[in-house]
Amino acid sequence: MKTILFDMDGVLVDLIPTWLHVYGLETGEFVHPDRIDSYALQKHVSDYAKLVTLLPQALLEAPPMIDSSEFNDLVLHNDKFDVYIVTHAFENRQYSIPNIKIDWMRHYFPNFDVNNMIFTSQKHLINGDVLVEDSEKVLEKWEANNPEGEGFLVHAPYNPNGQSLWSIIRIIMGMQS
Ligand SMILES: [Mg+2]
Repeated sequence: MKTILFDMDGVLVDLIPTWLHVYGLETGEFVHPDRIDSYALQKHVSDYAKLVTLLPQALLEAPPMIDSSEFNDLVLHNDKFDVYIVTHAFENRQYSIPNIKIDWMRHYFPNFDVNNMIFTSQKHLINGDVLVEDSEKVLEKWEANNPEGEGFLVHAPYNPNGQSLWSIIRIIMGMQS
């Protein structure tokens, strides 16, 4: 049985385009998602504090990165794969980001058991055979702590060397348990 860990923001959730759009509507400063060439969003907007406050709204509105059927190929193959989400909880005193993320998963990926969601900003402490992630820094730290594990970097404007989520899932599906 393989333990497969998926990051959520920028991996399952196509967050950045929606987040920048919501920010643009609020501030009049529209930043095209293709311009995001590094993971540090604070370099790309003039009011980063404002951007942070708009995260709950962006999460509620953001679409999934792939069709649910593609993710279900893995989730429903539960004789071979244990699928978990490992995602940042983002401290926010007004909203429960974990609750928003749980509702989002229930809505778009109803076959996924939301009890398998792990909220942490210390992903390197979570063991697994595979981590699918869009932060190169997080991936490198996880791989250093999980030398047996295999990390996959998801393609994004800030990850030109990454692979599409769809092709990563196909590779995982081909792994021997
Ligand atoms: Mg991410």
